[in-house]
Amino acid sequence: MTEPVTTMEAAPALGEPLPEPEPAPGCANCRGWACRRDIARKAGDLTRVSDCNVMIRRCTH
Ligand SMILES: [Zn+2]
Repeated sequence: MTEPVTTMEAAPALGEPLPEPEPAPGCANCRGWACRRDIARKAGDLTRVSDCNVMIRRCTH
């Protein structure tokens, strides 16, 4: 009994180490972090970008 091997998913996009969390709609905390993340990305501050992602993930809304 052989199963077809389909491992086409979970291909990481180059240049994006982690999938970025989406800010929850209506959550002021998330919106604030998403805004800072945007600013940090434009400034090229990837450390701060990932900090903001962590905060959005931790947010309990
Ligand atoms: Zn939130």
